[in-house]
Amino acid sequence: MQDRPRRESFLPFSRPAIGEEEIAGVVETLRSGWITTGPRAARFEEALSAYNEVPRCLALLSATTGLELALSALGIGEGDEVITTAHTFVCTVSNVVLRGAVPVLVDVEPDTMNLDAERIEERITSRTKAILPVHYGGLPCRMERIWEIARRHGLAVVEDAAHTMGARYAGRRIGSDARSAFSVYSFHPNKNLTTIEGGAIAFHDLRHEAYLKLQRFHGIARGAGTPYPDGSPLYDVPMPGRKSNFTDVQAAVGLAQLPKLDAFAARRRELARLYLTLLADLPEVELPADGDAEREHCWNLFVLRNRPEATGLTRDAMTAALKAENVGTGIHWQGLFAFSFYRDYFARHPEGLPKDGLPHATRTTENLMSLPLFPAMTEEDVLDVVSALRRIVAAGRRRARS
Ligand SMILES: *Cc1c(COP(=O)(O)O)cnc(C)c1O
Repeated sequence: MQDRPRRESFLPFSRPAIGEEEIAGVVETLRSGWITTGPRAARFEEALSAYNEVPRCLALLSATTGLELALSALGIGEGDEVITTAHTFVCTVSNVVLRGAVPVLVDVEPDTMNLDAERIEERITSRTKAILPVHYGGLPCRMERIWEIARRHGLAVVEDAAHTMGARYAGRRIGSDARSAFSVYSFHPNKNLTTIEGGAIAFHDLRHEAYLKLQRFHGIARGAGTPYPDGSPLYDVPMPGRKSNFTDVQAAVGLAQLPKLDAFAARRRELARLYLTLLADLPEVELPADGDAEREHCWNLFVLRNRPEATGLTRDAMTAALKAENVGTGIHWQGLFAFSFYRDYFARHPEGLPKDGLPHATRTTENLMSLPLFPAMTEEDVLDVVSALRRIVAAGRRRARS
């Protein structure tokens, strides 16, 4: 591949794919007289359920809220344990802690950076209630193995599907298999589908529906978005609830995004495979695993790992050098032990950590960086990133030799 000069303009690691349809939808909603939860939110939920092949999706303020509601609906609380991955965004783990349960961390597979299903069973105790896998970067976890373990031990499965709108497992959408009690999607601007902020919870057992609907809107028994369905302003509050509803303005964005989502994922796949091809001969960096016939990747993130012993550079030196080349990067994510709360927490809760530590998650979090990847990127953008990366690695190599 030919060397390319430093980029003229900054390339961010992510940029939401907002088109004229989204803008028109928002304007129309603003003009409609109904801007909070209403008819568009209801339509978005129906479209989302159909897309994800699930009986019911409820749209929410965020995926974070969705995870909290899933754990709450399962009755998870004080004295319980939830097995999850050591490599995730902090909210996956914080939601478990907020419920008073203990997050029991499992190390990741070195290639996929997803939780290692083979290490789940050794962490199950009489207190374990659920398994909470995260499909990192858009690559589905080995769900068959996870469901099999969950069934044998009577555990619930909740999928953190924040990254996997547009992916498939065993030919079906994430969340569509009833062996998972709940799956939670995120529509944050960095995710494959955005609604500015937002999330949704998918489920199969419709007995959860009433509870979730009450919980997302103050515990008000007469539906959010239809405050006076029979003309009466009165309602009952059978339980205290949260305020986690989804607005029609967000829904207008989502309704415009959803028909384009498969094209977004296809474009992400193309760009990711171009990176994989162009970087295949650069042993100083470790490339992310692609999907396969069983696990269809939707490439929310393209996460590269530095090999400091080979580049002579720290990850932070490398991302700073990329920034000087006008290439943005993300960090997904800092490890939990970067955070003061979790250093204390796991000192008090050693049962949350495996006896042999978390070597793969630790190495991953120290060395990772997310390269630019979003649907509007061009192949030239990818070439710019690769060219910059090669320059940085070659300079490191020279320094290491001298
Ligand atoms: C983004 C993200 C979330 C949180 O999503 P929000 O919609 O911002 O609450 C949860 N889990 C993972 C793995 C994420 O990447």
